[in-house]
Amino acid sequence: MRVLVIEDDPILSHHLATQLSELGNQVQVADTAKEGFYQATNYPIDIAIVDLGLPDQDGISLIKSIREFGSKFPILILTARVNWQDKVEGLNAGADDYLVKPFQKEELVARLDALVRRSAGFVKPIIRSGQLELDLAAKQVSLAGEAITVTAFEYLILEYLMRHYQEVVAKQRLLDVVYADKEGDPNTIEVMVSRLRKKLTQAGFADSILTIRGQGYKFNQICE
Ligand code: CA
Repeated sequence: MRVLVIEDDPILSHHLATQLSELGNQVQVADTAKEGFYQATNYPIDIAIVDLGLPDQDGISLIKSIREFGSKFPILILTARVNWQDKVEGLNAGADDYLVKPFQKEELVARLDALVRRSAGFVKPIIRSGQLELDLAAKQVSLAGEAITVTAFEYLILEYLMRHYQEVVAKQRLLDVVYADKEGDPNTIEVMVSRLRKKLTQAGFADSILTIRGQGYKFNQICE
């Protein structure tokens, strides 16, 4: 496929171009937003990798311009910024995914593949928040590709919280989710949430589930 890399760091952009070419892609490189926009709108690009910190324009405005122009290929953001506001802003501007620098080549390739698959219509039933993935078909949880072992109840809780990440979910609601029509003890929810939190933290995903005092729980990341 034809990959457009818009990145001003010459070493990184050279690495990306080499690695992606070795995998059989045709790679085009631009080191400014202006050049990137030109290439994005004048070539049949399959996917673009866009750095947010470009010398002449912010990557986010560049993505907006590309989308306003009407280009629909998937865009992966590369960013050294780690705060979630930037990621949300990027996704809102029209990017499809993001990767925080420094990153592993394997992860980049996996994300590019997934983006291309998705844009081609082969949608895998996955809910994702950053590197945390919930495979809805297999009922499995993984972080950056590494499986996290959770119980069936913990899985149900996590899936529900991730699906409703914009809401504070009451304990009673989780009780209904876990026990369906059976009578359950609200304390068991607390135990399950705390175990789930611990497992996610151990796997490297801290502060995943917030406790909102007197109201319930809230999943602490943004899903696409
Ligand atoms: Ca940069």
